[in-house]
Amino acid sequence: MDLIIRGGTIVTATDTYAADIGIVDGKVAQIGGDFAAGDAHVIDAEGKLVLPGAIDVHTHLDAPSQGAHTVDDFLSGTIAAACGGTTTVIDFCTQVRGQTLLEALELWHGKARDKAVVDYGFHMIVVDFSATTYDELAQLPGLGVTSFKLFMAYKGQSMVNDDVLIAVLDQARRHGALVLVHAENGEATEFLRQRLVQEGKTEPKFHASSRPPRVEAEATARAIALAEIVGAPIYIVHVSCGEALEEVTRGRARGVDVLAETCSQYLYLTEDVLDQPAFEGAKYVFTPPPRQAHQPPLLWDALAAHELQVVSSDHSPFNFVGGKDRGRDDFTQIPNGGPGIEERPVLVFQGVHDGRLSLNRFVDLVATAPAKIFGLYPSKGTIAIGSDADLAIWDPDIEWTLGASQLHHRVDYTMYEGTQVRGAPQTVLRRGEVIVRDREFVGQPGTGQFLPRKPYRADAVL
Ligand code: MN
Ligand code: MN
Repeated sequence: MDLIIRGGTIVTATDTYAADIGIVDGKVAQIGGDFAAGDAHVIDAEGKLVLPGAIDVHTHLDAPSQGAHTVDDFLSGTIAAACGGTTTVIDFCTQVRGQTLLEALELWHGKARDKAVVDYGFHMIVVDFSATTYDELAQLPGLGVTSFKLFMAYKGQSMVNDDVLIAVLDQARRHGALVLVHAENGEATEFLRQRLVQEGKTEPKFHASSRPPRVEAEATARAIALAEIVGAPIYIVHVSCGEALEEVTRGRARGVDVLAETCSQYLYLTEDVLDQPAFEGAKYVFTPPPRQAHQPPLLWDALAAHELQVVSSDHSPFNFVGGKDRGRDDFTQIPNGGPGIEERPVLVFQGVHDGRLSLNRFVDLVATAPAKIFGLYPSKGTIAIGSDADLAIWDPDIEWTLGASQLHHRVDYTMYEGTQVRGAPQTVLRRGEVIVRDREFVGQPGTGQFLPRKPYRADAVL
């Protein structure tokens, strides 16, 4: 053995038990039984939980967005991920107009290669369709990119119409890929935004009025119907409200292979955060917007009931100073997005303390289901013989306060400043290497590896 983790409680999506873990060559080689310690390094996990490293399938690192650019690159973003207990990210490779998909992919490899400290895969965001785009989509699974993302919102920028959506769903189905959609009716949001601005309603709080729940629910229903028509699976990103959730449930009841995530911000933040003095509300301008106070409990319940499969972060960091303030006089100019790559696991973990989620369901939502849905299981997302030794050793009871000064992202705020939480990953291993010790990053830039992902399979999560 190279390394032994001794005395901890192992938690997977299905089991909780006390056992030691032996690691050889970055993989889990032995669980329980007698260990010949030899000269192996031993990590004491007495009183701690040993969880699979979390997987964040929705991040925007070093990415162009709405005329701005996210401020975390693959170094700062993945250090923050690691410190939060996340050992794999699937980032959105973002095509820009005039670029082929393969050019975009090459560019993303270049952004990540010498920087990432956790392992990473890519989804492909498609915005520019040419004669060759569908052929390129067919090639991507062979290059390890088995998911594509389309926007139904952001008219005139990244929005696609139904003709493209149905054709991409059909092409993805034929090549074993999964289509992710940002589901909001782009025509309706554009109409509402323009009307609000004409009426002089330009403060951040009107961001919520410009994207009401029905805007999201309509697009969710339409996307699911288009998937149903061509027999394709579909994954709805960032479900924020009961109205959209209802459409997910309805589609699934008809037999459509619908998967859906929510994000940590929708479990915690409500629309009143947008209405604060000194333009503070701009920090919470993300899309879909934070909802009314009755919504987060619906999402927590849906997570427990397996109606939602994943919690991701949608980490999309823009500084408050020099980023968000572009929209000081007009909320439509505020870059949409907020940070959360480090905060996500501990925020969802509070659901365990609050009795909303079992410990096993927590692991499923932040690690196992993401691995299964996105073609990384069982090397990622669980603790089993032969799996990568991506492990987060959590102290489940330590109490601390979230604040931008302790977090590792590069953005100048957290949306959870002052929030009291319980539990934290103390030690994090990626493929058997300690990259976080005593809650601080101790790894090396560029040691994360690209993960070619397997095709989507319909029985991934049941
Ligand atoms: Mn989005
Ligand atoms: Mn996003």
